[in-house]
Amino acid sequence: TREIHLSTRPVGLPGPEHFETVSVDLPDLADGDVLVRNTVLSVDPYMRGRMNDVKSYVPPFQLGSPMDGGAVGIVEESRSDQLAVGDTVLTMAGWRERAVLPAAVARKLDVSRVPASAYLGVLGMPGLTAYVGLKRIAELREGDTVFISGAAGAVGSVAGQVARQLGAGRVIGSAGSPEKVSWLVDELGFDAAFDYHDGPVARQLKEHGPVDAYFDNVGGEHLEGAIFHMADFGRIALCGAIAGYNADAPEPGPRNLMMLVSKRITMRGFIVSDHADLTSQFYREAGDWLAAGDLTYRETYFEGLDQMVEAFRGLYSGGNTGKMLVRL
Ligand code: NDP
Repeated sequence: TREIHLSTRPVGLPGPEHFETVSVDLPDLADGDVLVRNTVLSVDPYMRGRMNDVKSYVPPFQLGSPMDGGAVGIVEESRSDQLAVGDTVLTMAGWRERAVLPAAVARKLDVSRVPASAYLGVLGMPGLTAYVGLKRIAELREGDTVFISGAAGAVGSVAGQVARQLGAGRVIGSAGSPEKVSWLVDELGFDAAFDYHDGPVARQLKEHGPVDAYFDNVGGEHLEGAIFHMADFGRIALCGAIAGYNADAPEPGPRNLMMLVSKRITMRGFIVSDHADLTSQFYREAGDWLAAGDLTYRETYFEGLDQMVEAFRGLYSGGNTGKMLVRL
């Protein structure tokens, strides 16, 4: 079977030269193990951080061993009574075609109502991130004007719709193309959206403020622009800062941080895995919204393991609408 290894640590945007595809023989199954054939691999921005050899909330990828990441697949062999051949499972054994792993680290998925891939996006880690960020970190209140950057991505597209479900007054989004902006407004129910290439965020956001809650996926100019237009006592949930992930050195922060004082703003970062206690509540609510048609989602597919690196690079050039995935 084939798996992708990190061969050297990238500086800047990763390219094919930083990875190698390696053919390996899978080990025999021990008691309690399953053999999983991956069908869909997740491609996520946070993986860029794991390519650096620095201490963070997840350890760095090791050079010369398989990288991991979310994946869904089918059990092909089982020596566990927890999982049977044919079961669909969610694992962290991504970036490869097949894996042998203990059944205990695979989660059996209910694919009777949604495709397995949904558990990598809308019903998975990105969806939960949107929910946690709005509900617990931004403490969304009825009637709030909410601004979401990276709004056409996996997290952002769920965040906009969840904000509406949680009672937001107005939902504003920013994204990187006219097509994405139309998708937000015409299909996802955003009240307004703009393409951040059309002019400075601070200028484009002006007509939509003041913003009570800002869900930041982008950082940089977006964060500075949002701070300018926050309402007094506004709340900012720092989810990510993708604009800076490939920078060689830390980028200067917002120049207007003093406005946090004058406007009495709360700004708080978070990592979704610290909020696993909200998982079952999220599944219940998101499942209901999906069934009712109040939550819709899109996926962007690259085909085949050989496209994995291109798909990953695509995250940094806006190549995805909704969740970025690779189908095997
Ligand atoms: P997305 O599906 O949003 O994919 C990334 C998108 O970011 C691209 O499609 C692109 O869309 C946009 N983008 C890329 N570069 C830039 C740039 N320089 N300026 C503005 N936009 C840019 O990824 P996810 O939904 O998976 O993740 C979104 C954010 O959430 C990331 O910052 C990620 O790190 C973070 N995250 C945080 C978690 C947590 O626990 N805190 C958990 C999961 C994700 P466009 O065309 O609009 O530019």
